[in-house]
Amino acid sequence: MLAMAGLPKLAVFDLDYTLWPFWVDTHVDPPFHRSSDGIVRDSRGHIVRLYPDVPEIMVRLQGLGVPVAAASRTGEIEGANQLLEVFDLVKYFVYREIYPGSKVTHFKRLQQKTGVSFSQMIFFDDEKRNIVDISTLGVTCIHVQKGMTLQTLTLGLETFAKVQPGS
Ligand SMILES: [Mg+2]
Repeated sequence: MLAMAGLPKLAVFDLDYTLWPFWVDTHVDPPFHRSSDGIVRDSRGHIVRLYPDVPEIMVRLQGLGVPVAAASRTGEIEGANQLLEVFDLVKYFVYREIYPGSKVTHFKRLQQKTGVSFSQMIFFDDEKRNIVDISTLGVTCIHVQKGMTLQTLTLGLETFAKVQPGS
């Protein structure tokens, strides 16, 4: 088990190809609808899913007391927010920074809103350019391959703990 002192004070997630396997602005058609059986479909009736470990990842971070935020560059702002709602993930996110542009802006706003320093944040994203940009701020960045998994979360938290002073 990880020592509490080695945990980040904020975990930030990209959305497309990090929490779900598609681009919300091109591959699916908002609005989305969740039926009584829990299945989410887009406006054309296509089934839309999260990467399977995502709900458990959020529960685990909540259990560890690590707040969660979203940082996405999508232009489909409404659709992305709606997806977080229909997937019942909104309750886990303390902040959602969802708009186009460099993610440096997203992180500067997260820093201002939370008061958490960059060195106390961990960031998961599938795109190398975002990893490169945000690494320069001093955030521990984890390059996600094939979507978030519990294994990637564990690896990320271990990586974060290792770079902490005195660890
Ligand atoms: Mg992405």
